[in-house]
Amino acid sequence: MTHVFGRSGAALPKAVRGEGCYITDAEGRVYLDGSGGAAVSCLGHSDADVRAAIQAQLEQIAFAHTGFFTSDPAEALADLLIQNAPEGIEKVYLLSGGSEAVEAAIKLARQYFLETGQAGRHRVIARRQSYHGNTLGALAAGGNAWRREKYAPLLVETSHIAPCFEYRFRQEGESAEDYGQRAANELQAEIERLGPETVMAFIAEPVVGATAGAVPAVKGYFKRIREICDHYGILLILDEVMCGMGRTGTLFACEQDGVAPDIVTIAKGLGAGYMPIGAMLCSGAIYDAIAQGSGSFQHGHTYHGHPLAAAAGHAVLTAILGRDLLPQVRARGAALQDALTARLGQHPHVGDIRGRGLFRGVELVADRATKDTFDPGRNVHARVKQAAMDNGLICYPAGGTIDGKRGDHILLAPPYIISEAQIDELTDKLARAIDTGLA
Ligand code: PMP
Repeated sequence: MTHVFGRSGAALPKAVRGEGCYITDAEGRVYLDGSGGAAVSCLGHSDADVRAAIQAQLEQIAFAHTGFFTSDPAEALADLLIQNAPEGIEKVYLLSGGSEAVEAAIKLARQYFLETGQAGRHRVIARRQSYHGNTLGALAAGGNAWRREKYAPLLVETSHIAPCFEYRFRQEGESAEDYGQRAANELQAEIERLGPETVMAFIAEPVVGATAGAVPAVKGYFKRIREICDHYGILLILDEVMCGMGRTGTLFACEQDGVAPDIVTIAKGLGAGYMPIGAMLCSGAIYDAIAQGSGSFQHGHTYHGHPLAAAAGHAVLTAILGRDLLPQVRARGAALQDALTARLGQHPHVGDIRGRGLFRGVELVADRATKDTFDPGRNVHARVKQAAMDNGLICYPAGGTIDGKRGDHILLAPPYIISEAQIDELTDKLARAIDTGLA
């Protein structure tokens, strides 16, 4: 009997070794890591350069509190991030994970408006069926009713508009672009409803991950969102905790949408599983306003800017850029989409296969023609996940809410080093798991 307080009461296998795209458990069973855990392990397991960077830093110094010191790895990581960041992004605040980064983003937005004489701006607008983290502020931003309800009332006043899910909500005869504009215009209507002088930020994932299985926005959607934010003086926070760090084939997913955020959050792929690390990046304009105001961001965590975590993040980013992994993500991502389409495209219970780069989602439906979802009580995504584990495949069950019902999706986010043969292995194991899970 373990004393570890886990996520669920279920007994789990014990992971003892990781090598490349595979994890081995204590019983000697080998699993292909088809989702990098939850889009975390972008370089695969046991990367020699990342291990060496952590070890080298450990020989120097493991920890120096950021109230007293800065460090080489923290500065090097921030510099490299900014050299490759979206336009206008100039400062990096290092944290220990995604929820912390989202919390910091919300607090920074609030402080920015307070210090620029707009104290009435305190509301956040997000989207239904979104996930931005599990701490109370990040949870408040998220739009998954079932995650929020146990912990209400939440800390940040947030309202939610429709997500940009063209695959499900586009009306007959409506073009994808028109649908995107219609979905984006919900932001304008919501700002008007709340009163523009009370709204501080809109937060969204460029490609929706954990709640819906890799759904990219329609072309033009984020451009319209940016226009609306600019019109009302509202900050655009893009949450790239899951879809950032090259996962979609560009370092930041928003590059493909042609928009630059005011604040962007990253985490998972930054530490790549080697260290807990996240970051909140903001524009020079926000930073300057606060620097010229109170002079300090009222925030801080003991492990913020941790040297070992920063060394890991720097090594990961160096590997992604230096080994030219972004073109590889695009090519292998296209190969994965093709393999999934060939194997599952006509499956009676597969409603959609989509994504960008090595970030792909498979929607499972009761009826392929009508796209009716399964009865939530069947917990289809969890059953497919278990069947996949039994087959030696890790895939991420993404169960959001669609039309008030829980939908079923499988998220695939393998390491960027996945080979063509491993893509075939993944597809084959997933197809068998879907059939077993639905049986
Ligand atoms: N934002 C998004 C988009 C995420 O997917 C996640 C994690 N699934 C988080 C925030 C929270 O990150 P963490 O689990 O590292 O706190």
